[in-house]
Amino acid sequence: MRTNTFGGQCAECGVDVPAQAGYRIGFGRTAYLVCRRHRPVPPPRGSHHGWHSQPLAALDFETTGVDPHSDRIITYAALGPGAGPDLVGMVHPQVPIPESAAEIHGISDADVARAPAPAAALRELSAWIDHLVAVDAPLVVFNAAFDLTLLRAELRRHGIGQPQWDALTVIDPFVIDYGIERGRLGSRRLGDVADYYGIKLDKAHDAETDARVARDVAIELGARHRATVFADRPLVMAQQRFWAAQRTMDYNRLALRRGRRIEPLGDWPFAPTR
Ligand SMILES: [Zn+2]
Repeated sequence: MRTNTFGGQCAECGVDVPAQAGYRIGFGRTAYLVCRRHRPVPPPRGSHHGWHSQPLAALDFETTGVDPHSDRIITYAALGPGAGPDLVGMVHPQVPIPESAAEIHGISDADVARAPAPAAALRELSAWIDHLVAVDAPLVVFNAAFDLTLLRAELRRHGIGQPQWDALTVIDPFVIDYGIERGRLGSRRLGDVADYYGIKLDKAHDAETDARVARDVAIELGARHRATVFADRPLVMAQQRFWAAQRTMDYNRLALRRGRRIEPLGDWPFAPTR
C-alpha cells in the first residue's frame, strides 16, 4: 500500500496525517488518505472448504515482453499440485530479449545463450496441464489471460498439441481480487495484493517466486472471502469470466472519458484474440 506523498486528514477519523505517515488509497479522483490505524485490512479467515483448501498448482512465466500473442517464454515455473513435483527451467526464446524486458526480470541474451530450445519444455508443460485436468487440480495463475494465452501461442508456434483447456479449472487471484475490490484499493499488481494479505514477495519477477506467491495469495482470497468460493467448477469459471469482463468495462468507461481505445471483453482465461 502506497504511503501518502502529501499531508492531509484521515478519511476515517479526521486525524491530521503528515506526509509519508499514512496511506493513499485508490487512484485518481476517488483517491483518499487514511492514517496508519485505518489502513484497509482483509477480513479474517473462515473455516469453510473449497478450491482454496485442496492441493493447488501454480504457473508463471518470465517473457520477452507484454504481448501474449507474439512474445516468448524465457523462464517457466509450473508448481505442484500441492507439494510437487515442480517443473522449473529456462529456454532459449529464439528471439533477442528486448532491453525493456531484461530490465524487469534481469535475464539477458547472454543468460539464455546455452539454454535449450523451447519444444521439450513446452511438451512437458502441455502434458502437465493435462495431468492437472486428470487429477482435477485447480491451476493458479495471476493474470491468467497473459500467461495462458502466451503458452497457447507458444504451443501453436512449435506445432505441439494443446492440452484440454476447456476442462481446466483456473484460479486467477488478479481477477478475483478485482471482483472483490473493484479498483477501490488502487494498483493491485502481484506485489500489492501479496502485501495486503501479509505475504512476502522478496524477489518479484522470478517465475518460481511469483508462482508460489500467487498460489499463497489465492489461498488467502478463498479463505477470507467465502463468497468467492463455489463448489461447482463451471460457476468458479463463470464468476471469474464475469469479473474479468467487469474489469474491462470499468477500464473502458475510463478510456472513453479520456479518449482512449476501448478494449474487447476478451475470453478469460485467455486474452482477446486479435
Ligand atoms: Zn484514521
